[in-house]
Amino acid sequence: MVLADLGRRINAAVHDLTRSNVVDEKAFDSMIKEIGNALVEADVNVKLVAGLRKSIRSTVNFKDLGPGVNKKRIIQKAVFDELCRLVDSHSEPYKPKKGKPNVIMFVGLQGSGKTTTCTKLARWYNARGFKACLVCADTFRAGAFDQLKQNATKAKVPYYGSYTETDPVKVAKAGVDKFKKERFEIIIVDTSGRHRQETELFAEMVQIQEAVRPDQTIMVLDASIGQQAEAQSKAFKESADFGAIVITKTDGNAAGGGAISAVAATKTPIVFIGTGEHILDMEKFEPQRYISKLLG
Ligand code: GDP
Repeated sequence: MVLADLGRRINAAVHDLTRSNVVDEKAFDSMIKEIGNALVEADVNVKLVAGLRKSIRSTVNFKDLGPGVNKKRIIQKAVFDELCRLVDSHSEPYKPKKGKPNVIMFVGLQGSGKTTTCTKLARWYNARGFKACLVCADTFRAGAFDQLKQNATKAKVPYYGSYTETDPVKVAKAGVDKFKKERFEIIIVDTSGRHRQETELFAEMVQIQEAVRPDQTIMVLDASIGQQAEAQSKAFKESADFGAIVITKTDGNAAGGGAISAVAATKTPIVFIGTGEHILDMEKFEPQRYISKLLG
């Protein structure tokens, strides 16, 4: 299911109820059920969905609504608020400070969109008056440095990497030190995502973290990740303790419910979403705006 379809389904469920002549408890229940089904089909974690259904039910408290109240408005608001809560971690992400080096390290599986997102973020900060640069600490994948170089050149962002050094920790440290000396304000470190939840990858992430001491670690999650999102993000969180999430490929064929569940599983805010392959295809994530857009 694509994201737009999920939005349409939820909207239809709410509208079917609020447009009908009889807004009774039975109709209310079937609306909640339909919203729940749509979310589960979009890969949102089943427990989260059960919680959301319960919350909508208790916020609206149908039995106690008097005859004079605007049931439709109350129901619409409850659905909107609960969907916002689902994507809102209620925690503040790190805010880079001007005039000092802010080191941002990216983690995530190979193919999730890390390198692309690193470049998008560097450009985003450049456009906002920060001096941003990129460090390629992926020495594992042949071509990783070339890819970053190409992206960085296109985005006119300075970069650092090595064709000969095979230790990613050394490359990361050398790049960050160099750019700190040159008074860069946003130093973005791209890492390898080679193994699937394997200890080696996690050990490498921890070593890089210890070497470059990032002010923020961001995990990149592909919107199509589905039900494994929760376990995967928890595993990453345990070793790399990221403080923010970027969900990529929200323009694709996935509704992204799995990635959304990762927010709840790790209590970590989504900071941006990737909306395409181009460098400008990235939006700042704001729960209310996102849900408004989802519901059209
Ligand atoms: P990495 O292995 O994690 O560094 O992933 P890459 O940055 O190389 O991205 C893998 C593929 O996903 C590339 O073809 C990117 O162009 C593509 N990609 C990344 N972000 C997005 C996005 O937001 N939307 C779309 N449609 N494609 C994306």
